[in-house]
Amino acid sequence: MISRPAIDLHTHSTASDGTLSPAELVRAAADAGLDVVAITDHDTTAGWDAAVRALPPGLTLIRGAEISCRWHGVEPAVPLHLLAYLFDPDHPELVAELARVRLAREVRGERIVELLRADGVDISWPEIMAAAGGGTVGRPHIAAALIRAGLVATTTEAFGVDWLGERYRLPKEDVDVFRAVELIRAAGGVPVFAHPRATRRGRIVPDELIVELAAAGLAGLEADHEDHSPAEAAHVRALAAELGLLVTGSSDFHGTHKTVRLGAHTTAPEAYERIVAAASGVTGVASG
Ligand code: AMP
Ligand code: FE
Ligand code: FE
Ligand code: ZN
Repeated sequence: MISRPAIDLHTHSTASDGTLSPAELVRAAADAGLDVVAITDHDTTAGWDAAVRALPPGLTLIRGAEISCRWHGVEPAVPLHLLAYLFDPDHPELVAELARVRLAREVRGERIVELLRADGVDISWPEIMAAAGGGTVGRPHIAAALIRAGLVATTTEAFGVDWLGERYRLPKEDVDVFRAVELIRAAGGVPVFAHPRATRRGRIVPDELIVELAAAGLAGLEADHEDHSPAEAAHVRALAAELGLLVTGSSDFHGTHKTVRLGAHTTAPEAYERIVAAASGVTGVASG
């Protein structure tokens, strides 16, 4: 029997809020038995080159990013994530938008830390920035500081309502989701809506928006993901079928910032091939 390739299209490195460096990430992907892995750090392509350089034999790397977006159709606007695959990393407007979002993340992170400090929580923003090591900073980095300070035991606890999940949660200034779809396509990339029904993370968008996004150029929906229940994943698959969108499954691996393992969910080769065929920004990379 010829086994189907193992394809995981959503992972994070230290270029954002994962805990493995891009080089360690691709080595771990090969060790996990993957044939294809996508590096999709939040709002950055900074990990791409190091991942390419370290690519082990037999593994194909899909270069991507997970873009922080917001839908302004309701008040307050709903945050959502678009995975963008194989786009041109030098597209000027996309580059500018990603830089703006990364800066907004720093402004917001520092404000969250100020709120915590005002309540007597002794963590330091410069220390958090140093620990992020130049990667896109996010709440997981603040969670790590809360763990170091002994205030919570786990990242999950840090994302609880008493901490970063609600009490000390501030919005960030994301990319309007329609503009993001347009920019990803303009840069030759392929946009896929990450974990669209992840109710356990917070508010989600209605299916009507997904219909509109499909008309605007959205290519696919991530169905199999640890934040989707089986019923939620089935709903996403049915919606994708109705709209002619491709469907992906992925681990959303974050190293030790989350418990999920590489390859915990995977994407069918047919969907992967549709992504590759639709892209014109950069190619997949195989070491050789
Ligand atoms: P931010 O991008 O700063 O808003 O932080 C969101 C990131 O935090 C996500 O990309 C996940 O990596 C992580 N995250 C969100 N919810 C949780 C959770 N409940 N437990 C652990 N990590 C989480
Ligand atoms: Fe993340
Ligand atoms: Fe996400
Ligand atoms: Zn992610």
